Amino acid sequence: MEIDYLIIGQGLAGSLLAWELIQRDKKVIIVDNNRLNASQVAAGLINPVTGMRFVKSTDVDTLLPSALDYYQNLSLYFKQAFYIEKPMLRLLRNDKEITACTKRFKDSQYKNYLAEIVPTSTGINASHGILKQNNTGYLLTSPLLEALKSYFISLNAYIKTELHYDEISLSPTLQWKNFKPKQIIFCEGHSATQNPWFSVLPFQLVKGEIITALSKHVIPQSILNYGHWFIPLDNHQFRTGASFDRDNINSNISDEVKTKLFESLQQVYPTLTVEQVIKHQAGIRPTTQDKMPFIGQHPHHPEFFIFNGFGAKGSLQIPWHCQNLADKLLNNQTIPQSSNINRYYSLFL
Ligand SMILES: Cc1cc2nc3c(=O)[nH]c(=O)nc-3n(C[C@H](O)[C@H](O)[C@H](O)COP(=O)(O)OP(=O)(O)OC[C@H]3O[C@@H](n4cnc5c(N)ncnc54)[C@H](O)[C@@H]3O)c2cc1C
Repeated sequence: MEIDYLIIGQGLAGSLLAWELIQRDKKVIIVDNNRLNASQVAAGLINPVTGMRFVKSTDVDTLLPSALDYYQNLSLYFKQAFYIEKPMLRLLRNDKEITACTKRFKDSQYKNYLAEIVPTSTGINASHGILKQNNTGYLLTSPLLEALKSYFISLNAYIKTELHYDEISLSPTLQWKNFKPKQIIFCEGHSATQNPWFSVLPFQLVKGEIITALSKHVIPQSILNYGHWFIPLDNHQFRTGASFDRDNINSNISDEVKTKLFESLQQVYPTLTVEQVIKHQAGIRPTTQDKMPFIGQHPHHPEFFIFNGFGAKGSLQIPWHCQNLADKLLNNQTIPQSSNINRYYSLFL
């Protein structure tokens, strides 16, 4: 069967790209092995100002409106809320942080993102004060991926299977099983490190664990950021995480990490009592060495593209980039240099 695009991976990257191309009347097939992926585990946080120096994320002024618009349109289509906007309270840890963020208040470029510094908030242990941030929130990635999966299934556009790279033939025509796509777009998240055509790209994978739990008492309704974070899902249910581990790249969960996450939460929110752990999950972030996405065309096989490397910022970055990649595929629009894999073409032999 002749199709336009074969997309490998139904994480957030593959799903939004497939959705985008289908909206543009392209014939798309999306293949996924149905394993628990980073997108389902992710907290989905969007936090425009991060780090010890309180710096705006790269291109956030462009990426954020695009992401909010995209999720809003998906919500309208599926009649379901996917993006939950909530203020974030960032606990300041020392005088250096107070100085760094006070400096940002004087910079007009930060006015949409930083609200004020307050001494503390009810029940929260904040010795150096709290920075209130605006334009923050989280994406409900699992329900979004479920909704999109059902949509792809309804179009006969979803295949649940493991794609083995040696099943792809390049000549006489590009083919996988009985599909003859014009192009194949690889969106396999961290598994791209096994991809024979793109594994040379400098990924720097980071494992993360995250916990969903229930509290006996009513919990605060802001996102808390204290090195780790706390996200209220309703009046009693919350998520906390995520750990950050570059050395053990696997999907195992550990009691040691769980204890650490709860200890760190207990320090900032001493009165919180955990009644039940609902879920403890681990995932692997497809992070890259230069912290920028890996998007573009293979230098020797123009029929192969990659759409990957969204690290810890997939919710913010993927909507804008999937539209840009669709523009590249359909109208030969350029991919921004900072995320284009042509910056690494010298690594491809
Ligand atoms: C603990 C944790 C917390 C995070 N928190 C946040 C956050 O707060 N905010 C944020 O924006 N991001 C966060 N992230 C990062 C976010 O998850 C990623 O940026 C994003 O989800 C990556 O999506 P993806 O589609 O590239 O990869 P994935 O979601 O991993 O999807 C890849 C898909 O490809 C499939 N696949 C791979 N190989 C094959 C094959 N050969 N055949 C068939 N299918 C295949 C996989 O099974 C998977 O379904 C977090 C990640 C983790 C692990």
